[in-house]
Order: sequence, then structure tokens, then C-alpha cells
Amino acid sequence: MKTSEIVAVGAGAVVGAQLVMAAVRTSNSVLRPPGAKDEGDFLSKCIKCGKCIEACPYGALHVTGDMIGSAVGTPTLDVRNQACRLCEDLPCIAACPTGALCELDNRRDVRMGLAVINRDLCIAVKALRCEVCYRACPLIDEAIHIEYKMREGDAIHSVFEPVIDEDKCTGCGLCVERCVVDNPEIAIRIVRDRDEAKRLIAAEKDKVLEAYRLAETWGSNPDEYERKGGSGPRDMSKPQA
Ligand code: SF4
Ligand code: SF4
Ligand code: SF4
Repeated sequence: MKTSEIVAVGAGAVVGAQLVMAAVRTSNSVLRPPGAKDEGDFLSKCIKCGKCIEACPYGALHVTGDMIGSAVGTPTLDVRNQACRLCEDLPCIAACPTGALCELDNRRDVRMGLAVINRDLCIAVKALRCEVCYRACPLIDEAIHIEYKMREGDAIHSVFEPVIDEDKCTGCGLCVERCVVDNPEIAIRIVRDRDEAKRLIAAEKDKVLEAYRLAETWGSNPDEYERKGGSGPRDMSKPQA
């Protein structure tokens, strides 16, 4: 091979690698079918044949829009529209000819992401009975359970709060598909990066604890409470007219 040809091949490889990297950056948070590993591994193996999409009996998979480079034409999910049903036999994985979707022993091993509940928006946290996400979960009482406690500052009413098990949630998104809250946004979402999701879940717990601490100041110093912009629990602890 001539020097000029070697240079051209090398330049082509660099450009190709850059395109894959750019694609990974833009599609990192996009949900992928069961069996997909990290975005780099998935993009390097998916040949966009669409066989997983054809194999899904629920129409949960579709081709991505708004992607660039090697991410164009790859399969994804819009779980609010149609979540993954966690089929026992995982036909999407069986149909994949390249190993972009890796075989799993059990549907419980699916890791598409991790559900994160926005406790400011979830009506169950505000002491209304809901549990819709809990009942929708195919791994009910494993991936999600209901935590019971008395409502803060209230000796009569209870809170039945859905709590995600960070080790068992598959990220199938059925909870998101069924959530009754969508304004200003859905009260639960799937975060693909599980470490990021765990950080967000921890922040949600702190946020509510802080709100409760703040609520305690309402009785002694309502002006300070107002100034600090208390939310949710404020209404629970505040005496009702
Ligand atoms: S597990 Fe079933 S519902 Fe989920 S993507 Fe695969 S084929 Fe579709
Ligand atoms: S994403 Fe939601 S429905 Fe699916 S396993 Fe996790 S908690 Fe259950
Ligand atoms: S369905 Fe939505 S609002 Fe209802 S408990 Fe679940 S996250 Fe909260």
C-alpha cells in the first residue's frame, strides 16, 4: 500500500472513531433494548437490522430520531408511550444477530436503567393514595415496594410511598408509562446510567428530609419558612383552615 493510501486509511479510521465518540456522547442517555451494555459497546455492535424491533410483540422498540453518526437508525424506547413488558423469553435479545443485545438468563437481569421518583411531584409522597406505579411493576414487591409511615405533623393520616429497589429495578419503564402525574412533568423517569440514578435518588431523599426540617420551622417562624420557600410537607404540617 502506498504512503498516501495508508495516510488516507488512517485518517478515515480517526474520523470514524470520532463519529462513534460523538454518537456515544449524544445518545448516552437514550434507553436501549434489554441486553444492551454501555452505549459504546452497543453502537459498535448494532448493525441497525431492525430484527429486535420486529420481534417485540408490544411494539415497545422503535428507531431513534435526532441521532447522529453511528447512532442513526438504532433501536430505542419511549417508555411513557410504550414501556418494555419484560417478556419472559426476551424475544428482542433472541432476534439480535450480532450480540449488541447480550443474552440474559432471566428477565430480572435486564438493566435498561433505574427508575427515579421526583418526590416533589409524586402525589403519594403528599399523602394521596396512588400506588399506580407499584401495581404496574412486573416485579412488584421486588423492584418497587410501598413504604408506610404516618404523615409528618399529622397523627391521623398515613403516607404510602413507592420506593425503588436500586439493585432490582430493571428500568423497564412500566411505572413511567402508568404514572398519573405528567404536569409539569412525569413524577417518575428512567435514568440509564445507574450510578447517576442512585445519586439522583439520594438527592431526592435529602430534598424531602430538608423540606420536612423546614416544615418544622413553620410553627415557630412562618416568616422564615416562607422566605426559604418550603414546599410539599409545608401543607402537611400547616394546620388546615
Ligand atoms: S422484553 Fe419484550 S417488550 Fe421488552 S423490548 Fe424485548 S420484546 Fe419488547
Ligand atoms: S422500571 Fe419501574 S416498573 Fe420497571 S422494574 Fe423498575 S420500578 Fe418496576
Ligand atoms: S404513579 Fe406517579 S404519582 Fe403515583 S405513586 Fe407512582 S410516581 Fe407517585
